[in-house]
This record gives sequence, structure tokens and C-alpha cells, in this order.
Amino acid sequence: MEPEKMDNGNKNVFQFAMKLVSRFLIFLAFLALTGWAVLTKMENLLQKEIENFVASYATITAQVATERFDGELIQMERYAKQLEVGHMTAENLISALNLGERGVVSGICDIDGKVIAGITPPEEIKPQLRLAKVSASSVNFYNGIGLVMSIPVLYDGNVRNALYKIYSENLLKEGYFRLENEFSKKMMICDVELNKVVVPYVGYGKGDRFYDERQNLPKGYNEILKRLENTPTTAIYSPDIDEDYIIFAAELENHFIVLGYADWNEVIGGIFSVHRIVVWVFFLIVVLFSIFVLYAFTAELNVAESDELREAKDEADRANQAKSEFLANMSHEIRTPLNAVLGMNEMILRETPEGSPIRTYAWNVKSSSENLLSIINDILDFSKIESGKMEIVETTYYLSSVLNDVFNMMRFKAEQKGLDFKIEVDESVPDNLYGDEVRIRQVIVNILNNAVKYTQKGSVTFKVTWQRIADGSAMMQFSSIDTGIGIKEEDLPKLFTQFQRLDLKKNRTVEGTGLGLSITIKLVKMMSGELKVTSEYGKGSNFTIILPQKVEQYEAIGDFRARAEAFMQQQKVYKESFIAPDAEILVVDDSEMNLFVVENLLKKTKIQVTRSMSGKDCLEKIAANHYDVIFLDHMMPEMDGIETLERAKVLPDSQCKDTPIIALTANAISGVREMFIGKGFTDYLSKPVDSKELERMLQKYLPPEKVLSADEEENISAEKISEVKEQKVSDVEEKISEVEEKVSEVEEKIFEVEEKVSDAEKISEVEEKNSSPLTPPSSLNIDVDLGMQYCGGMEEMYKEFIKMFCDRKEETQKKLQDAFDSGNWKDYTTFIHALKSGSLSVGGKILSEQSKDLEMAGHENRIDYIKENHHKAMELYDDFVAEAKERKLY
Ligand code: ADP
Repeated sequence: MEPEKMDNGNKNVFQFAMKLVSRFLIFLAFLALTGWAVLTKMENLLQKEIENFVASYATITAQVATERFDGELIQMERYAKQLEVGHMTAENLISALNLGERGVVSGICDIDGKVIAGITPPEEIKPQLRLAKVSASSVNFYNGIGLVMSIPVLYDGNVRNALYKIYSENLLKEGYFRLENEFSKKMMICDVELNKVVVPYVGYGKGDRFYDERQNLPKGYNEILKRLENTPTTAIYSPDIDEDYIIFAAELENHFIVLGYADWNEVIGGIFSVHRIVVWVFFLIVVLFSIFVLYAFTAELNVAESDELREAKDEADRANQAKSEFLANMSHEIRTPLNAVLGMNEMILRETPEGSPIRTYAWNVKSSSENLLSIINDILDFSKIESGKMEIVETTYYLSSVLNDVFNMMRFKAEQKGLDFKIEVDESVPDNLYGDEVRIRQVIVNILNNAVKYTQKGSVTFKVTWQRIADGSAMMQFSSIDTGIGIKEEDLPKLFTQFQRLDLKKNRTVEGTGLGLSITIKLVKMMSGELKVTSEYGKGSNFTIILPQKVEQYEAIGDFRARAEAFMQQQKVYKESFIAPDAEILVVDDSEMNLFVVENLLKKTKIQVTRSMSGKDCLEKIAANHYDVIFLDHMMPEMDGIETLERAKVLPDSQCKDTPIIALTANAISGVREMFIGKGFTDYLSKPVDSKELERMLQKYLPPEKVLSADEEENISAEKISEVKEQKVSDVEEKISEVEEKVSEVEEKIFEVEEKVSDAEKISEVEEKNSSPLTPPSSLNIDVDLGMQYCGGMEEMYKEFIKMFCDRKEETQKKLQDAFDSGNWKDYTTFIHALKSGSLSVGGKILSEQSKDLEMAGHENRIDYIKENHHKAMELYDDFVAEAKERKLY
């Protein structure tokens, strides 16, 4: 990532975290506030609830107290009734009322206050007794006397007496009215007129917190009174009054109230535990909620983070995609011209004679181009692995075939460098395996290539061993052991880092990209194997690939060397064995160069190659003609290979319905083979086209009857040659006999001529003095005698002959001159050959000699000689004609 982007990223995360923290704090504050409010509210409610609850008990207590008072009054009324009806005397009634209880006294008095029975009423209660006269029952408390209850006693409906009962203060203190309930034993009755406790609770006294010995008003009394102004019962829990107790009260009849104290904890005991539970639950909820919120926040954080990550990933994916596309295009862009370079170069190599410096240049072009191709392939492989597009494609294969390829390739390389290449293959190694043959070959070649690259002298040993593992699989072990420069111990960990080259001082001159081993280790890992390296600096290295492979069928590889030799032999045979003069193929490519390359690579197979430069043209051609195989380029303008194939498949009038169509492409990105086969191609051939691959593919897909081995052709041509030979021999024999006949004829003629010559000598001796023009001086160009000889001594014929020869001079010279000027030495030789014999037959011996030398030079291609002597021959011809004219030979 770029630093700027990283900064932005950090800033974003920081801002986001701040946002989250502040949100979390606000939320916590809100939670605390609501928690506090809820708790307070709950407490208030609870308090109210408890107060109501206790107050309701106070009501019950008040009722009980009232009933007690009323009970007393009712009993008094019942006795008074007895008195009225005469069932009881006043004395009896009093003694029944008192029941002998200590502290209870009673009496009856008349309207005027005169005591009829019982005790004399104290002065203070007299007003109360007077009330009885108006038929009112009443209860009053009097300091020093106690509680006084009074009722009227009726006789015939008229009030005659008042009955009264006095409960002494001590009796009240002892709890005569038993004011208690389940919450409280501290209940008392107060007289609100006297502002006095009239019935204290049992056991009040010294040090009591509610009502002391000095009988001060109890705690909370005033507050209770205030409350009772509005309600008949009330309860107060106030820490100001007493934090441990709740005070309750209820109105009684007359001017009394019941006032009590209940232990707060006892009252709320159960309730409070509920309260506590509620608090705990609330606390728990808060905690859970906080956890949830925290979780939600972190989730949000994660979501936000993963959003960022997703975005970053998307961006990286897009970049990677762009990289793959770029590499795919680059591969095409580079491999296409490279294809042309390699193809053209192959042509140069084929057509340049051994020993020519051009061949050396072409070899250099070839090795550099192949080097470049392997670098491009490495980069492509690397990018494929990086982008996860590299796939391991497993098939059944023969290890011997892989080893053969490796052996052939590496032996050649090692030998070129003067290294000893040894191969040791355990004879029991299984041959028929299941795995990715291509990648296995690649990783082995990689480590062996390095071994050769980084070894200057000594040897490279390729070792193959194995171990049987469970379920019939094999743990294969391929080692490359070299005696090269070795690797420093501290460099070993860097070995598999991409683009990392070690010991650059030493390796300066060794070509490399630092990709080979990182590709190797990745491929080995993809095949679940491992790569082990041991090395001693300056002594050599050992790279071992350990790979699990399934054994398809156990079949020991045996003596691999023998197999390798057999295979190479087979390859040689293959190389020379294939021609298909009757086969016709169509090659479709938009590049003319590529067409030229394919056509020329196939020249020696004699296959008829039809070219096509576009998909459209291809469709027209297959509608009109049948082809045995079609090579179809993938990337073409307008209609590409795939579209062309799709259209070809549905072409109604196609002549090539069953013709195998092979994709031809320079695009070597991963998965291409599967893609092409998936699209309906029969096979796939990668460019730059390898001539062997091309031929192998043709041998596979051409109709077998059209594929002939070169031996067959050789046989055919050998047969033809011998036939021709025989024919020629008989022709020659015929000619020889003809020639022999001619020779004997000529011998006869010569004999005749010799005879004639001797005759002529005789004649010349006789005619010497007459000096005949036909008698040539010996220094001249024309040997008339010789000419005459060839004319059977017939002068006329000779004259005719010599005229013809002279007349043809212009024409003959022109032909010769033209051939000479144009350098057509073949024609020149033919014409000069004719001049040689023509001149001789007319006695032009010198011209004939000269012509003969020129003809020989023509046959021997000695052009310089011709160039030097041509004009001489021409001059001799001129001289011949001039002399003939001069000597009037015709
Ligand atoms: P390169 O293209 O440079 O050969 P590799 O990834 O194949 O890249 O190898 C990485 C480095 O490991 C090489 O540059 C070389 O320094 C070192 N190396 C690999 N094989 C050997 C070997 N057999 N002997 C010594 N050094 C080796």
C-alpha cells in the first residue's frame, strides 16, 4: 500500500474508533441516568407501596382496638339491660363487671352523681358521666385515673343512671388491650385532645426509642397527626424520623388514634429481597445490555473494518484482474512476434548451408529467443500462481516419458557446457502414475537447469527414487546433485524469495530472473510435495523434490537408460518418417508471417497447405472445400477464432463437419487449454509453433490413410530410381551399340579420308605450282583440309557448310553474348558447346579449341575463365569469317 493510503487508512480507523467511544460513553451516561431514575422511582413506589401496606395493617389494628373498646362498652350495655329488667342488682352487676380484675373498677351513679353501687367516681370524670344522661356512651382518659368508659342505664326508656368502668393506667401499661400485629409489638393509643399516650405498648420504659418513661410524645407523632387530617390511616417511612422503623397510625372512635412502629426490615423483609432482586436483575440487565452494546459496537467496528477490507480487497482484486489481463495481453503481444522470429529463424537454419556464418547468427537468434520465451513463460506462470489461476491438472502418465524429455533436454545442455550429465533411476520406480505431468516436468527441469547453470565444471546427477506409501501411492523423490558453486548457509532462507538472486558477485554472468525456484516451490506445494535443499558453498548443491503420486498401475520402469535410448531411436524414426502429400489442411491466421511459418515448417511433409487470413474467409473456404485438419488462430480482427468455430459448427453447407479444428494461439495464460476444449476445439497448439509439436499433432489428427512414412516414399523413389536406372541402362546400351556402329562407320570413313588425303598429297605435289586457293597456309585459322575431311572431301559441300557457318556468326554470337551478359552460364555452355563442334566441322580448329575450353569452364562453373576468354572466342569467330571471305572459301 502507498504510504499516503496507509495514513488515510489509519486516520479513518482512528476517527471511527473515536466516534464509537464517544457514542459508547453517551450511551453509558444515558444508561446510568435511566438506571438511577428507574431505581429512584422504584424505591419511591416501593416505599409508597410499603407505607400503604403498613397503613392497611394499621387500619386492621385500629379496628381491633375499636372492637376491644366497643366490646367493653357492649358488655357494659348488656349488664345495664339486665339491671333495667330487674334480672340483676346493681351490686351484682358491678361485681360481674369487675370480674375481680386488678386495676379495673366500676360503678353506677344516678343523674345527680350519687353513687348507687361500686366506686365513687372521681371528680374529673363527672362531666363525662353527665353525657350518659343524654344517652351517649363515651371513652376518655384521665391522667392519674386511667381510661374511663361510660354508658347510660335506662329504665323504661328514660335515663336514670350512668354506668362507668375505669381501667387503671397500670392495667393499660400491662397491655390490657393487647395492641399487637404481626409486624409490630410497639403500638399505643394516643389521645389527640390531650396529646398523650393513653395506652402504651407493653414494656415501654427506660431507654426506649419511641416512648420513654417520662411519657414524652412518641417520635413521628406530630407528623402522623398532620397526615391523619387527610386520611383515616397512614404510615410514614422517613429516615429523618427513624431509619429503621416505619411509623403507622389509624384513627379510632372519639379522639383516639392508634400509633405503632414496625421494624422496616421486618416489614419489607420479603418485599425488600424482591427489591434487591429487582435491583440485581436491573444491574444484570445493565451489564448484559452493556455487553450487548459493546458487542454491537465491535460488530459495527468489524463491519466497518470489513467494509474497508472488502473495499481494499475489491480494489486489490480489480488490480490483480488488470494485472492478469495485462499479462495475458502482454503474453500475446510478445509471443506473437516472437513466434514469427522463431519461425523465420527456423527457415534460415534450414536453408543455410552448414559452415555459413549466417547459421551461427541464426543459432544465436534461436537461443536468445528461446531464452526470452522461457522468461515470459516464467513471468506468466508466476502471475498465474499469484492470481490463483494456476491449476494442477491430473491425468494418467508415464514417468519414463517425462524422464526422457528431461534427459534429452538436460543432457544436451550439460554436454554443451562440458559437464557430465548422469542419470540414476531406481529400476523399481513405478512407471504408470497419476498426476500433473506438465508441472512435474517443469519443476524437475527447473532444478536441473539451475544445476547446469550454476556449475562450471564437474557433473550434474539426476536421481530418481521412490517409496511405497499407503493405498498404493508412491512418494517420488527427484534429486539434482551438482558439483557447482553451492550456496552460502546464510543465503539458504532467501532461496525461495521471488526475484531474489544470490551471490551476485559470482553469478553476475549467469542469466536468470530469480523466479524459477519460487515457482518451483509453489508448484511443488500445490502438488502436496516439498522441496529440500542442502548445499556446501564452493562444493555443490542437492535439490530434492519429494512428491506424492498415485500409482495408476504398478509397472516397474526397469532399465531407464535402455528405454531412453529406445525412445530417442523412436524419435529419430519419427522425425524422418512422416509425409502426407494427399492431405490438405487449412491454416487461418491474420498474420501472413505466421501462415508462412506454418506452411514452411510443413514443407517437408508435403502436406497441401491452404492459407486463410480471416474468420470470414475461413467459413467460405470450408463451405467450398474439404480439409483434413484446420488450424484456427484465436485472436483475429473482426471475427475471432472462437466465433469462427461456433459459426463453422452450424454452417449448413460445411464440407468440414468432422474435421478436427485446432486452436492456434500465442496467449499462454492459464486455463487456456481447458477453455479451448470447452469451446469445442479438438485440441490446442501454443505459438510459437514448435515444428515437432505441429507434426505430432498432424500425425494424430490427419486421416491415417493419408499419413505415409518417409520410408515408404523412399522405397517408392528408390523403386522409381532403379526402374529409371534400368531404363537408362538399356537406353545407354542401345546408344553404345549405335555409337559403336557409328565408330566403325567413322573408322571406315577415316580410312577412306586417309586414302583420299594421300591421293590429295599426291595431287598437291603435282599441282603445287598452280597454287589453289583451297590450300590454306598453315598459320591461318581455317584448316580447309580438316574441314574437307568432315565433308567427305566434297568441296561443294564444304563450301556450303562454311557459308552456313559464316552466315550464322551474327546469330550465334548474339546468343552467346546475351547468355554471357545475363550470366546464364548454363545456356552459354550449351551454345559454346555447339560452336565447338560447328567450328571443328568447317576446319576452325583454333576456334573449336577455344570453344572447348570455354565449355569445360562452363561445366565446371569457372565463370572467371569464361569472362576472361569469351571475347577471344568471339574474335576468333570474326577472324574465321574474315579469312574465309578473304580466301574465298565460299
Ligand atoms: P534464477 O533465475 O536466478 O536462476 P532461481 O529462482 O532459479 O532464479 O534461483 C534463485 C537463486 O538461487 C539463483 O539466483 C542462485 O543464486 C541460487 N541457486 C539456485 N540453484 C542453485 C544451484 N544449483 N547452485 C547454486 N546456486 C543456486
